[in-house]
Amino acid sequence: MCIFCKIVDKEIPNKTVLEDEKFLAFEDINPQAKIHVLIIPKQHIDSFEHVSPELMAEMTSFIQKVAKVLDVDSSGYRLITNIGENGGQEVPHLHFHILAGEKLGALV
Ligand code: AMP
Repeated sequence: MCIFCKIVDKEIPNKTVLEDEKFLAFEDINPQAKIHVLIIPKQHIDSFEHVSPELMAEMTSFIQKVAKVLDVDSSGYRLITNIGENGGQEVPHLHFHILAGEKLGALV
């Protein structure tokens, strides 16, 4: 079982930001910004390459709710998903990073 599935099953503790029946948002253990939250589907999906458009639509709404809960929806944030080896994905369970709480440097 992957590490994020273990978090969903509560085998590994997490600092939950928001949860519903399909998705979980929790604080990243190694924050790269003042606010660094991960958003995952509870169902195991390897990466963005494997998510259906239907589930992605629901995940989009959930991510927007997380941004509101974090109170960064107006001030702004960066949303990232790493995909596969060249994308730098370390945990093979679809997740989006929300980075926020400060002005972030340009990436591209
Ligand atoms: P990625 O490189 O996109 O696969 O990102 C994986 C992220 O998961 C990294 O930012 C890690 O800090 C984070 N991470 C790994 N294990 C945990 C954990 N147990 N709780 C919270 N975040 C974690």
